[in-house]
Amino acid sequence: MSDRVYLDHNATAPLRAEARAAMLDAMDGGGNPSSIHGQGRAARARMERSRRQVAAFLGAPPEGVIFTSGGTEADILALRGTGRRRLVVSAIEHDAVLAAVPDPVRVPVSPSGVVDLAALDAILAAGDEPALVSVMWANNETGVIQPVADVAAIARRHGALVHSDAVQAAGRLSISFTESGLDLMSVSGHKIGGPPGIGALLVREGIALTPVATGGGQEKGRRSGTENLPGIDGFAAATEAAGSAEEIARVRAIRDAFEARLLAAVPTARILGRDVDRVMNTSAVVMPGVSAETQVMALDLAGIAVSAGAACSSGKVTRSHVIEAMEPNGDAAGSTIRVSFGWTNTAGDADRVADAWIDLYKRAGSARPDPST
Ligand code: PLP
Repeated sequence: MSDRVYLDHNATAPLRAEARAAMLDAMDGGGNPSSIHGQGRAARARMERSRRQVAAFLGAPPEGVIFTSGGTEADILALRGTGRRRLVVSAIEHDAVLAAVPDPVRVPVSPSGVVDLAALDAILAAGDEPALVSVMWANNETGVIQPVADVAAIARRHGALVHSDAVQAAGRLSISFTESGLDLMSVSGHKIGGPPGIGALLVREGIALTPVATGGGQEKGRRSGTENLPGIDGFAAATEAAGSAEEIARVRAIRDAFEARLLAAVPTARILGRDVDRVMNTSAVVMPGVSAETQVMALDLAGIAVSAGAACSSGKVTRSHVIEAMEPNGDAAGSTIRVSFGWTNTAGDADRVADAWIDLYKRAGSARPDPST
């Protein structure tokens, strides 16, 4: 697999050496953080050190960090835990949010994939029951950054609580939970080069949460279950390396070079959300008339791993609800692939995927209907 190019960091990022080393240490160290003997106390000390590290990375107080089994569980705890029954979410949320509660009200987005703040305001103004609003910080399919501070201000004006799924934002832009105005925020270890199976929900002081996982009362009664210490330590270690200004600039240059090559070679190629702020690593590329599945398979044969939409959740290729929300009358939803770069990539990777994509475009061109006829 060594000559393969991995461009699916939004599905999962390869494990960083720092995270691997910390996990091995934690596994060798053993101990249950709830035990009162020496090994237990040592395990708790390690866990609390990791909690402080994760909190510092996200600009939050350590007491507000609840470790969970990942982004999905953090989203579910946020959406179900506050007791609010009126849920208002953006139309482009990850399924972890959309499926957390039955039929949340969906706020539309612009054709560039930015949540419609006027629509959010109107929806919140139309009801008296206190709401919980959930708008992701960065979209997993397009990378488009959402105006989270504006969302929080609007929510606050209407007495609503506000949550953001920051799974794809953490490590890709600088985040301060405290300054964001959010009440709740979800993150996940494996998107930043930590292990899968670990994440956190950040909670502002004073917000009471009814746990989803009940039992032994760990995490101050907010999430029961023996803590996944290797995961927690691996997650914390990944934050040491993730999100540095150097890494963000390097990955952005690689992604931008890829996009520039496509657009120069294929004038009809489109990159969704390119006219608005995006995280530095994601390209949602449309090849009109060629299904996303065909593109993913052709690139895979060329040794390049990309995905169609949010394949991180299921392995199946379905039409993207994100792109349908952006372009309800267009046909991009079935013909867009997600190319997501990250800490392992080089400039050569951008060239390889650009070459393979342009080659496929030329080959598929003979099968594509002539737009002039
Ligand atoms: N939210 C977003 C935006 C995601 O991209 C993902 C990725 O799958 C998740 C939530 C789920 O996170 P996890 O895989 O840690 O459960």
